[in-house]
Amino acid sequence: MSEHQFDIAIIGCGPAALSAAVNAKNKNRDIVVLGSELCSPPMHKAPMINNYLGFPSITGEELRQSFLGHASLMGVNIIKSKAENVFPDENGYIVMSGEEMLRAKTVILCIGTPYRQTLKNEADFLGKGLGYCATCDGPLYKGKDVAIVGYSAEAEPEANYLAEICNKVYYLPLYKEDPQVRSEVEVIRERPVSVEGDTTVKTLTTKTQQLTVHGVFVVGAEIAPDRLVPGLELAENFIKVNSQMETNLPGIFAAGDCTGPPYQLSKAAGQGQIAGLNATKLVLKM
Ligand SMILES: Cc1cc2nc3c(=O)[nH]c(=O)nc-3n(C[C@H](O)[C@H](O)[C@H](O)COP(=O)(O)OP(=O)(O)OC[C@H]3O[C@@H](n4cnc5c(N)ncnc54)[C@H](O)[C@@H]3O)c2cc1C
Repeated sequence: MSEHQFDIAIIGCGPAALSAAVNAKNKNRDIVVLGSELCSPPMHKAPMINNYLGFPSITGEELRQSFLGHASLMGVNIIKSKAENVFPDENGYIVMSGEEMLRAKTVILCIGTPYRQTLKNEADFLGKGLGYCATCDGPLYKGKDVAIVGYSAEAEPEANYLAEICNKVYYLPLYKEDPQVRSEVEVIRERPVSVEGDTTVKTLTTKTQQLTVHGVFVVGAEIAPDRLVPGLELAENFIKVNSQMETNLPGIFAAGDCTGPPYQLSKAAGQGQIAGLNATKLVLKM
């Protein structure tokens, strides 16, 4: 791990994150932005925006490009890598992302609409055969049958890894593209509905079939905020913030859709600005 400590680590790269980044850069703060491959899938999908002040009729994609262009002009560099875990260290926080560990005095969470459990009984079987990281828990299923629910192509290497150690791997992709998985992985193009079992998982049910499995992994979805940052207080699945965008954890701010409705661009940009300026102020006091 590098000893370099950033002033602010911003997690996410949608309008809330870019607004926080531009405002912190404007105050000369040393920032790092960790984002997804496509910065802001919601903006990319939005056909026409007609309520963002100053742009009476613009597509989501045009506005997205304009936000990214502005951030780039200000020298904001986005590292395309998912933040997986944030935990405190003596002078601030450590952000884990793949093999990388980044240090920052403060953190701003701008991670968009939080992941919601979609499988019936998902919460009940968490840790009892259901998990979110196949490479972490995979060895427990050596020689057994497992299913992976893949929210994005990110899940494919995990399916390939399990295929090396498990007896049978079912892969249920929830995205359009053809999955690139090993030939022994059975791809099932059906939406999973529920997990069942007794003390541990026994089956994964889709609309038309029941797969007998010892383990189910849900991979490639956004990470739920309280899994990303243990101890983070939520209110109905959203990150609880005050009017200064402070969370319950010192030095951790949040902004945008992850703080709850309304899910709107102006609100995301406004909250991102407040979080960016308040993180900047806090760093100056440290
Ligand atoms: C079809 C559609 C139409 C819309 N139309 C309008 C409209 O007309 N007007 C309006 O005001 N709003 C509209 N919206 C809503 C608007 O797009 C959102 O409110 C806005 O994008 C929220 O910004 P955000 O920064 O909070 O989150 P997002 O834009 O969702 O950005 C979050 C980013 O963080 C990334 N991320 C998440 N977790 C991590 C992690 N652990 N590590 C790294 N990166 C991570 C995500 O992949 C994403 O790129 C629309 C949305 C949709 C889907």
